[in-house]
Amino acid sequence: MPHPSELMSDKLQLIQRWQTIAGELQASDVKLLVVSKYAPDEAVETLMQAGQIHFAESRPQNLRDRATRWPECQWHMIGPLQKNKAKYIGRFAAMWHSCDDIDTARAVAAHVSDRTLPVLIQVNIADNPEQRGINPEILTTFAEELSQVDGLQLAGLMAMAPKDGDVRAAFRHLRNLRDQLFDGRFAILCMGMSNDYRIAVQEGSTMVRLGSTVFGTGRSV
Ligand SMILES: *Cc1c(COP(=O)(O)O)cnc(C)c1O
Repeated sequence: MPHPSELMSDKLQLIQRWQTIAGELQASDVKLLVVSKYAPDEAVETLMQAGQIHFAESRPQNLRDRATRWPECQWHMIGPLQKNKAKYIGRFAAMWHSCDDIDTARAVAAHVSDRTLPVLIQVNIADNPEQRGINPEILTTFAEELSQVDGLQLAGLMAMAPKDGDVRAAFRHLRNLRDQLFDGRFAILCMGMSNDYRIAVQEGSTMVRLGSTVFGTGRSV
């Protein structure tokens, strides 16, 4: 058992990190999603009490469990999704970020009732077939198909930076795709993780997904 004063200081440090990052993002008018996929319940609860509302999970069952436990928060789905888990997202997600397959989208929509689920298309801007997402060349066609699915509302684009390569150029590419696809109308541009979010914000991100830099589990920028 850690000494109580150590626990307290961990908690305070978490709140301080969150406050600093949340303040920085608020000043740029960028929404902060706290990625809680590796965080224990106590840490999630600490941030909720500090005022964080938007959390992201990458596993459907974990999203369901946390959304059921804390319905006062908004639970975003950011991970790969198999059709047989679509019901958890249709029922419990506040937003689905990782949409890159039309059959899965229809399966999710079948479980959406009495509401419309905002969806982001995940785009592969990495030029690397091992990373997930829709190929930019078929984005327009995919967006048209998705727009016809009842129960879903296309709200913007999401991407992960290339693992190797020019991160800034990739983010700029996603921004251009968003501008073209939505023709100047507001649409979410969800890009930026712990080690690249400042670049993403400079390139026009409207929503970042931060895990390790908030929870203190990774190197900070
Ligand atoms: C895990 C994850 C994040 C958060 O990553 P950090 O580097 O911990 O900030 C963001 N987006 C997606 C899609 C993830 O899977």
